[in-house]
Amino acid sequence: MTKAFSLNVSKWLVTVFTVLFFLAPAAQAELSPTSQSKLTIEYTDSEQNLDLETARNLPAARWLSLKTDRASFGYTSDEYWFRFKLESKPYGRILHIAYPLLDELTIYVVQPEGIRTYHMGDTLPFSERPIPTSEFAVSLPENTRGEIYIKTNTTSSMRLPIAVRTEVGFFETQMSRRIAEGIYFGVLLCMAVYNFFGFIASRESEFGLYSLYTLFFAGLMLSLEGLGFHYLWPNSLYLQDKGIPIFGSLTFLTGALFAYQLLELKRYRYTWGRGLMVMAFLSAISLLIAIFASYRISIHVLLSLAAPGCLFLLLVGAYMWRKGFIYARIFTLAWCSLLISVVANSLGYLGIIDSMFIQRHAIMIGSGIEILLLSWVLAVRYSEQRTERLKAEQRYNRELEENVDERTFELQIALRELQDVNTELEQKNTEDPLTGLYNRGYFQQHLERELRRTLRRELPLALLMIDVDHFKPVNDTHGHLAGDQILQQLAKLMQRHAKRAADIVCRYGGEEFAIILPETDVEEAETFAKQLLQQVRDTEFKTDSGLLKITISIGVISTSVRIFDNVDELFKAADDALYSAKNTGRDRIAVQ
Ligand code: GH3
Ligand code: MG
Ligand code: MG
Repeated sequence: MTKAFSLNVSKWLVTVFTVLFFLAPAAQAELSPTSQSKLTIEYTDSEQNLDLETARNLPAARWLSLKTDRASFGYTSDEYWFRFKLESKPYGRILHIAYPLLDELTIYVVQPEGIRTYHMGDTLPFSERPIPTSEFAVSLPENTRGEIYIKTNTTSSMRLPIAVRTEVGFFETQMSRRIAEGIYFGVLLCMAVYNFFGFIASRESEFGLYSLYTLFFAGLMLSLEGLGFHYLWPNSLYLQDKGIPIFGSLTFLTGALFAYQLLELKRYRYTWGRGLMVMAFLSAISLLIAIFASYRISIHVLLSLAAPGCLFLLLVGAYMWRKGFIYARIFTLAWCSLLISVVANSLGYLGIIDSMFIQRHAIMIGSGIEILLLSWVLAVRYSEQRTERLKAEQRYNRELEENVDERTFELQIALRELQDVNTELEQKNTEDPLTGLYNRGYFQQHLERELRRTLRRELPLALLMIDVDHFKPVNDTHGHLAGDQILQQLAKLMQRHAKRAADIVCRYGGEEFAIILPETDVEEAETFAKQLLQQVRDTEFKTDSGLLKITISIGVISTSVRIFDNVDELFKAADDALYSAKNTGRDRIAVQ
């Protein structure tokens, strides 16, 4: 941001100094005494339309002498006459009136051999001017002598800077003036086009408004300088007449809207914003008046809008400046620059500041700086907004990341809980609730797995089916609770007895149990069963009904004796063995 900022500053400063650099010699050329002869001018005013004869015959008392060669009478409806004597010179000269806004201007060159008359002014097409310049000029050939009479009236401010220059002197004033104007309007055009592209690219309305503002301001200055009539609308007497109030109103309209957008007044201070909207509305009315009413009325409407309007814009800028907006500071400086130049120019017109340079260039320099500063404001503001947006985006992303992290963490916890519940469920699925042994479902699955492994590795597998003898009477005599307690202790006993890690003890159902013994041949299984049988015989089971004793019957089977193709066969063989143990008296094992 700071880098872009200083880049902008240097860019604008270079442009401003370039403009000043070119304007300074222009001013010097104009003030060069060698190009201009000293004149003694007299003037008179009349409410009626006089002809030359009548003017020449006016009594001498009616003619007043002009203190300077720059007559300035403000807005007047009177007709003004000027006259001065011209000595003969052996070279051609130019009578030059460097003010472009005269409605009617007639110059009479009264010589002993005859009178030459030139009609000029805004009310005539540009092509009728004897010398095509945005100001007024007529050629005085060598040896022209006699008296010059100038008759003029205008609805604009009545100013007549009259000069008789050598042809070279006149040419110099024109050249330097045109260069200065070229640079000035070039800068304005660049700003207008550049910011129009800015508008197209960013779709930010202030770029568009600024571009329009610059264009209308250029239109206003073209009208004021008479250049529009010279180059752009030489045949439009309507625009030449109405250009100033029309472009002036448009400038104020777009200026007010631009300030409204730029300073974001809607967001920060409603009343100021409303003030700018009122200003825009009044400018629109002024525009309508400019289009339909006479110049005299519309210029007064515009001028009465201009002074408070500029002041208001300055106040708005100053207020926002105090609020600490960097672009409000540049905005205020921009308006100050324009206002200072307007004041300086007005003081020049009023004769308080006697500087041709200020009179001719003040507004150009002031408004040039204003336009450049405003463009700078736009750049700064755009960059600020972008930084703000970026920060907001970063903030948003950070928050988003934090949120995601938080959610992920919560999700992980939930997942872990779910896993725990799942394993618990799985366990419950395979576990017998009363004894904590594997249940029948698991028994079947596991037996199938073990049988397949056995076939593959050709290792024996033993299966024991166990049933508690006469358990029904135990229940009937001592109650179900005692029965349960016996089953629980019996389960623990069997688990203790099945010592190998691969041994699996299951509750098959009721008081029936199964023990899977991998890698166990029939002898080992038999031994295992006998020892278990003995342990059960020897055990006194603690129940709420006291110490109780039980016996069990065991059916023993091992694949070391017989090959089984499937679980059902294996299981059936074990069950048959159990059955035979039961049938042969219980409390014993039967091996198949
Ligand atoms: P035998 O096996 O020697 O032929 O006689 P038995 O009385 O054990 O035979 P039977 O299969 O007819 O009876 C099994 C009894 O086991 C029935 C029931 O009272 C008891 N029993 C089954 N499951 C449970 C249990 O979970 N808890 C309790 N307390 N008793 C059970
Ligand atoms: Mg049974
Ligand atoms: Mg039984």
